[in-house]
Amino acid sequence: MENEFICIVCPKGCRIKVDNEGNISGYTCLRGLNYVQEELTCPKRMLTSTVKVSNRKDTYVSVKTSSSIPKDLLLKVMEELKKASVEAPVKMHQVLLKNIFDTNVDIIATKEIK
Ligand code: SF4
Repeated sequence: MENEFICIVCPKGCRIKVDNEGNISGYTCLRGLNYVQEELTCPKRMLTSTVKVSNRKDTYVSVKTSSSIPKDLLLKVMEELKKASVEAPVKMHQVLLKNIFDTNVDIIATKEIK
């Protein structure tokens, strides 16, 4: 069965096809080829979420992964973020959780909390 992917690396959104023999076509650049090869072997995604600020009432700081993480870890990381909390002040891009689940990826703040 032929598979089709829409490349999400850049806004051009090329349609990339993989045929039954594993031949990949339709990419415009090598980044697209690398994206599909990764999707076929170990798909990864960026994750955005929030973390509770323990010393501010009803306050959450928005966070994201410093780079993409394996798709099958997304739920596990979300569970970890639900349990986590930080104390204000929080600086923009501050590392809140380092090397989450040994992925070499950090959870960083995307908002400043004074
Ligand atoms: S294949 Fe290259 S040009 Fe096409 S969407 Fe992906 S990154 Fe952009």
